[in-house]
Amino acid sequence: MLNRALFLDRDGVINVDHGYVCSPARTEFIDGIFELVAAANREDVAIVVATNQAGIARGYYTEADFLAYMEWVRGEFVRQGARLDAVYYCPHHPDAGIGGYRRECDCRKPAPGMLISAQRDLRLDLGSSLLIGDKPSDLAAGRAAGVGVNLQLGSDALPDLRAALGHLG
Ligand SMILES: [Mg+2]
Ligand SMILES: [Zn+2]
Repeated sequence: MLNRALFLDRDGVINVDHGYVCSPARTEFIDGIFELVAAANREDVAIVVATNQAGIARGYYTEADFLAYMEWVRGEFVRQGARLDAVYYCPHHPDAGIGGYRRECDCRKPAPGMLISAQRDLRLDLGSSLLIGDKPSDLAAGRAAGVGVNLQLGSDALPDLRAALGHLG
């Protein structure tokens, strides 16, 4: 049987987008995100983070820094009674960055590569899945992958997160 997913962008959806956030000190969680994820956990929806991380390409932090930071983020969710099931990230940038990170790729949103990888790895039914982003490129990736419901968070995120909960019932 295929699983439903709740795809979450990271910056602007899980944490306030202060620009290239990769440390606990610069992390401010979005109001309502822990409750949303906990509710989705109870519905047996796989929680999949899919995030462009050009800060890696630009050399602001390394992949190891990013992965260690995401382990901390996952721990904060656990402390709040919620669980992130998987994290996908694009470390590339098409025209900025260092070494092999500077390239066109299939994973940087609006391309759907991260969502397609998750579909394969987690046996997801994308048509019955939900995506929440804060930018048009997030929603474009969802539509390109065939995700059923694609929501863009407004500046006051909480009402939108409550609406998102309604889609999971
Ligand atoms: Mg974002
Ligand atoms: Zn990429």
